[in-house]
Amino acid sequence: MMISETMNAKLNEQITAEFAAAHKYLAMACAFDSRGLKILCQRFVQQAAEERDHAMKILHYMLEVGGRVHLEAVPEPADQFANPKAIVAAALESEQHVTRLIHDLVSLADSEKDYATRSFLQWFVDEQVEEVASMRDLLTLVELAGNNLLQVEARIRHEMMPKS
Ligand code: MG
Repeated sequence: MMISETMNAKLNEQITAEFAAAHKYLAMACAFDSRGLKILCQRFVQQAAEERDHAMKILHYMLEVGGRVHLEAVPEPADQFANPKAIVAAALESEQHVTRLIHDLVSLADSEKDYATRSFLQWFVDEQVEEVASMRDLLTLVELAGNNLLQVEARIRHEMMPKS
């Protein structure tokens, strides 16, 4: 195994955290759909898929370095929200939480002089900057829109269109 026992355990935890994030986004997507916000639902379903990809990326890295993957139970996500703004605020909080976890992993890799894992984690460091920024933008948009969430839907639909 090319990683320490501690790193192995922490990467396992990160796999769970990424699947947990996917689960949260799916629950949030359903909460949007139940309010008739179909585009926000789609956007969050897409986000859930990205989180699963993050989990798989770590899983494959662990296999590559001869780590022992242990899949843990994924916590049940919250699915009751006061309003659409509360959903986006919870998503932003979740991304900020994942960012802290990634930074803790980087600190561990640094302290162990585990340069391979440190390098692998850089992608996640950069990804989290984007994730937090895009969720913060969405929160601002929802706040600006007030009760006119169809405007938010129109903007998101536009942003989700494939660029040609
Ligand atoms: Mg993620």
